[in-house]
Amino acid sequence: MHIVVFSGAGVSAESGLRTFRDSDGLWEQYDVMDVATPEAWEKDRELVLRFYNERRAQVIHAEPNAAHSAIRELEDHFDVSVITQNIDNLHERAGSSTVLHLHGEIMKARSSVDSSLLYDVKNGVIELDAKCEKGSQLRPHVVWFGEAVPEMESAYSIAQSADVLIVVGSSLNVYPAAGLVQFIAPRAALYIIDPKSVPVARDNAIHIKEKASTGIPMLASDLIKKYSTAGR
Ligand code: NAD
Repeated sequence: MHIVVFSGAGVSAESGLRTFRDSDGLWEQYDVMDVATPEAWEKDRELVLRFYNERRAQVIHAEPNAAHSAIRELEDHFDVSVITQNIDNLHERAGSSTVLHLHGEIMKARSSVDSSLLYDVKNGVIELDAKCEKGSQLRPHVVWFGEAVPEMESAYSIAQSADVLIVVGSSLNVYPAAGLVQFIAPRAALYIIDPKSVPVARDNAIHIKEKASTGIPMLASDLIKKYSTAGR
C-alpha cells in the first residue's frame, strides 16, 4: 500500500516553527510580499537574506515532533512518500527517506542566475555578496510567491499512485501545491489532519480535527491495524 503524506506548515508548528496562515499573512512579523517574492529580492536583498537567515536559525534549533516521527514510522509498514510544502528539514531529521520539497529547502542556497547551482548553507547564514561559482549572488533555495514550482509534475505523479493521501497542517490555500489533492485516484482514501476546517472538494474526505502531534499517531495506528501485513 502506498501512503502519500502531504504536509504544510502546521506539521512543524509544534516544533516551534510558526505557520504562515495562522499569523494573518504576517510570517514572523514580516509581510510576505516584502520578503518572499522576486520583487522583494530585487528591491532589498539584505532584508530578504536576513529574513531567511532568521528562519534558518530557527530550523536549526527546532526538533522534529511526534507527527514527523509517526510519519517516519509508517515506513516500517507501508510504502511512504512525503510531499511537503515546508522548507524546513524536520521530515528528513525524523528519518523519512523519501521527501519531495515543493517549495525548496532553507538549508540550501542557489545561484540567482543558474538554479542548477546548489550549495549547502555553511554556518547557517547566506551573506550579502556570497557568490556562486559563476560570480552571481547566492539566494535561498526556496520558491517565492509568484515563482514556478518545478517539482509539481513529480508531485502529481506520486499523488496519482497513492492508495491513501494524508494532508496534514496545510490550509490548502497556496497554489499550485494545494491542487495536488485533485490528482489522487477516485478509489484513494483522503485524510485531512488539521485543527481547523480545510476546504476540499471531495465527498469521501475524512477530517480529523486534531493537532498533527496527536492526529498523525492516531491515524497511523489505525492504518497499521487495518492494513499492515508486516509482522503477521
Ligand atoms: P498555512 O500556514 O497556509 O496553513 C497552516 C495550516 O496548519 C492551517 O490550516 C492551520 O490550521 C494548521 N495548523 C496549525 N497548527 C497545527 C498543528 N499543530 N497541527 C496541524 N495543523 C496545524 O501553511 P501551508 O498550507 O503550508 O502554506 C503556507 C506556505 O508557507 C507554504 O508554502 C510553506 O512553504 C510556507 N511556510 C513554511 C514553513 C516551514 O517550512 N516550517 C513555515 C511557515 C510557512
